[in-house]
Amino acid sequence: MRILVTGGAGFIGSHLCRRLLNQGHEVICLDNFFTGRRENVFQLLDNPRFELLRHDVIEPILLEVEQIYNLACPASPIHYQYNPVKTVKTSVMGMINMLGLAKRVRARILQASTSEVYGDPEVHPQPERYWGNVNPIGIRSCYDEGKRLAETLMMDYHRQNRVDIRIARIFNTYGPHMLENDGRVVSNFIVQSLRGEELTIYGTGEQTRSFCYVDDLVEGLISLMNVEPEGESGNVHAPVNLGNPNEFTMRELAESVAELAGRELRLRYHPLPQDDPRQRRPDITRARNLLGWEPTIPLREGLVKTIAYFAGRLEEAIPEVAVKTE
Ligand code: NAD
Ligand code: UDP
Repeated sequence: MRILVTGGAGFIGSHLCRRLLNQGHEVICLDNFFTGRRENVFQLLDNPRFELLRHDVIEPILLEVEQIYNLACPASPIHYQYNPVKTVKTSVMGMINMLGLAKRVRARILQASTSEVYGDPEVHPQPERYWGNVNPIGIRSCYDEGKRLAETLMMDYHRQNRVDIRIARIFNTYGPHMLENDGRVVSNFIVQSLRGEELTIYGTGEQTRSFCYVDDLVEGLISLMNVEPEGESGNVHAPVNLGNPNEFTMRELAESVAELAGRELRLRYHPLPQDDPRQRRPDITRARNLLGWEPTIPLREGLVKTIAYFAGRLEEAIPEVAVKTE
């Protein structure tokens, strides 16, 4: 198949492109390089089935493809809050452009949605039927509401135009190819540990997240994209949670990272950012039943691989991590 991956030079997108090429597909990787980098796909550039396009999804584009994975959107709070208007445009105009393309060339389209559609959840763990608790006017809204509207657009193009859609609600994912200055917690803690710096904990560190290793997530995305509708019961078009249900506090994460990096644990506390969700854990019953998918890589194993990746990069000059100080 010929497959388009928007945001393909980013963290998750670059792993997805590699996996799709390994499966024998042709891959068009489209990216504006806001948080992605050529380096992430450097090893793919020699593959004759791989094409890299610099393009912004807020502009329309016409490409003949059979499947579209729409991942274009900064995912780290520091990056998506840098230019919030642009973040909304990327989610909304990007989604409209990609759905228009899918409609025109009759491609199947998968949207990389997010656990952020649940906001600061009052139901725990979060099943897909939970509608969420999102602040529509806060500093995270550009991302959360942008992604919620993208889901609305997906469902309306499906109902109105019969576009064949899949919606993945991705929970916190980590692994190699995250940016060192990405600002997300796993990369921050690893880079800080390796440099012998204090680990920056926001708030008390009692808030929880559930971390999925990127290889598991990519398998889930590909399974969801390729699951076929089965009779009336198998509603493949409704959202599916993809994530690892093992939940940790940020303090526990800090302890694991310091231990696995072989460093003494030293913490520095910062204020909790506004609207930071207190808890998050996916209910993956639907993914298990529909796709037969569940994560296989435990946190400690994934952290070892990710620490090894960042240790390799520390040989090169890498930038300071981004820390939110207000
Ligand atoms: P990332 O920031 O590493 O990747 C996003 C990619 O999109 C980057 O390569 C960036 O340059 C590109 N991009 C951004 N705006 C663009 C635009 N207007 N036009 C073209 N390209 C653009 O983030 P990631 O962690 O790889 O996330 C990928 C997708 O998965 C995002 O849509 C994100 O919202 C979603 N997601 C990620 C996580 C996670 O934990 N990593 C969780 C939930 C959802
Ligand atoms: N966090 C932290 N220290 C950091 C970066 C993040 O304690 O250096 C916290 C953050 O406040 C949040 C959790 O870690 O509670 C996960 O943050 P991240 O930005 O990785 O993802 P998200 O909040 O989008 O789930």
